[in-house]
Amino acid sequence: MIQILAGTSNKHKVEEFKSAISHLLPDLQILMTSDFPSFPDVEENGTSFEENASIKAKHASAYADMPAFADDSGLEVMALNGEPGIYSARYAGEKATDAEKMAKVLAGLEGKSDRRARFVCVIALAAGGEITQLFRGEVHGVIAHEPRGDHGFGYDPIFIPDGYDKTFGELGAEIKEKISHRAVALEKMTQFLQKELENMEGFELQ
Ligand code: IMP
Repeated sequence: MIQILAGTSNKHKVEEFKSAISHLLPDLQILMTSDFPSFPDVEENGTSFEENASIKAKHASAYADMPAFADDSGLEVMALNGEPGIYSARYAGEKATDAEKMAKVLAGLEGKSDRRARFVCVIALAAGGEITQLFRGEVHGVIAHEPRGDHGFGYDPIFIPDGYDKTFGELGAEIKEKISHRAVALEKMTQFLQKELENMEGFELQ
């Protein structure tokens, strides 16, 4: 059994990772940072999703001395020049609720006709404390006029993916797990790992 560490303490994300990876790669056991008694936090001080994902993955791989991956994600709204972007988690202040963050996006779009937006997720894969690969996923859509639905988390109730007339908050996990930014990035990483595992002689994550 080969082990890989998911460098996040967000249980919601780890569950998404496990459900996407485990049926395709049954030989891969996914550990969480909480499997380590005093896993230290790392400062996410990068200026892009790629940098922040890399900081987290390198840190996890170096600390645990095993292959690790980590993601960084957020919402980019075109008419807000890409905000909230890498600041999505703390857009309305460190302790703001999801409702307050969504309200800030909606207020910023008042009077604007361009409501295009996208969710972005970058997953970094590291081994030996160094980045070996980056995988990027995006889902494009528009911002609704008010929050709708209570599935998911974060900005899901105000994001309507292209091809649908409902928000991620209304559509629920089954559709989100197929088309989301995280699903797309995960699919790319899973395919990469599958190839590496099939060709164990050249398996670089060991
Ligand atoms: P991080 O990737 O843990 O740094 O968090 C990024 C932030 O972006 C989250 O706290 C959410 O506010 C937002 N976000 C990222 N992915 C999603 C998603 O799938 N749905 C809704 N909001 C998201």
